Amino acid sequence: MNFESFNFHPSIMGGIRALGYTKPTPIQFQSMQSILQGRDLIGLAQTGTGKTAAFVLPILQRLISSPRGRVGALIISPTRELTEQTCDASNALSRHTGLKSAAIYGGVSMHQQTGKLRNGVEIVTACPGRLLDHLYKGTIDLSQLKVLVLDEADRMFDMGFLPDVRNILKCILHRRQTLLFSATMPKDVRRLVKEILHEPVTVQIGHIAPADTVSHALYPVKQHLKTALLKHLLRGIETESVLIFTRTKHRAKRVAEQLYKSGYNVTSLQGNLLQSQRQAALDGFRSGSFKILVATDIAARGIDVLSISHVINYDMPETTDDYSHRIGRTGRVNQNGDAYSFVTSKDAGMVRSLEKLFKEPLEHRTIEGFNYAMPEPEGNSGCPPRKLRPRSSQNNRPRRRKLI
Ligand code: AMP
Repeated sequence: MNFESFNFHPSIMGGIRALGYTKPTPIQFQSMQSILQGRDLIGLAQTGTGKTAAFVLPILQRLISSPRGRVGALIISPTRELTEQTCDASNALSRHTGLKSAAIYGGVSMHQQTGKLRNGVEIVTACPGRLLDHLYKGTIDLSQLKVLVLDEADRMFDMGFLPDVRNILKCILHRRQTLLFSATMPKDVRRLVKEILHEPVTVQIGHIAPADTVSHALYPVKQHLKTALLKHLLRGIETESVLIFTRTKHRAKRVAEQLYKSGYNVTSLQGNLLQSQRQAALDGFRSGSFKILVATDIAARGIDVLSISHVINYDMPETTDDYSHRIGRTGRVNQNGDAYSFVTSKDAGMVRSLEKLFKEPLEHRTIEGFNYAMPEPEGNSGCPPRKLRPRSSQNNRPRRRKLI
């Protein structure tokens, strides 16, 4: 099947061609017809499958003949980067239609966003917190909303955005088409689906497993040798862009600094940066002026760089879903990629879970010529003891996870 069979408006077809898409990806092929018919939909698809265009294209078709300057579609996503990226994808696809998209997220001036909304946009991509600020201030009008998309719903709930999403839903009481995309379906997401989707069609693209265009390898190593191993590995392989994941913001910054000192063209992406710095890091990585990006999970969510040849897990992720999301950054739509994971003895359980997911053992590699017996430097015997918070500050309130 090709894009012509969906009877998109010629100006939408112009956008599709301009991006060089020749045929729909499986998620597009399976979901666009139902969305065009106005059905609610659950899309179970990992990142890198082309899911953004799967909902943006039918949205453009639906809005193309609607009055302009009113918000007709709202796409809610968990992170600023994903929000910005979805907005860019939407603007690229709609370039010949006259339909405009705006991104709304925290950490930047509210005033500028209000200006854009006042000038009139038809599609809004938004993070939940800042969207609520606009709703409460009356600077966004959703009374004409026709399509609501909840993107990466599982991650949204992981990050504690469920109360915000519910509050947003209270502001859109009229009947609209609702589309929910998620890589997994945890209990919270299933409950919300029951409450807000009306007789939804479900589309699932394969298993929630890492893309099969990626090859995976484990590098057993002691914690204190990870940076030395990383440098050794980078020297020995041919790479395009490399994305390195660490578990903490602090470590992302430190590993980037160490690579920089060794002469690598590297930047980091973590939540301690200002939004402008985050954007500069991401833009630099996208344009290729930084060949290596060291990032934490949530900061790297939604990064769409087609030439990522290697994803390296400096630290193993906490769940197999996180692994899939990280690895989804390489091997995107028909490209090949390599995923390398540094594993210590503490990661044995995670390795077992991954092997269960893959239904086969993962390859363990050692690097010839690397000194695995290097002793740990003195005074570096692990983490400092964790400080206990005073009892009075410990309460049972659920806390929203900070964007890291
Ligand atoms: P997504 O999963 O939406 O983040 O998309 C992943 C990548 O696939 C993006 O770079 C899209 O531009 C690209 N893409 C989406 N649809 C197609 C298509 N039909 N053909 C080729 N590339 C596509």
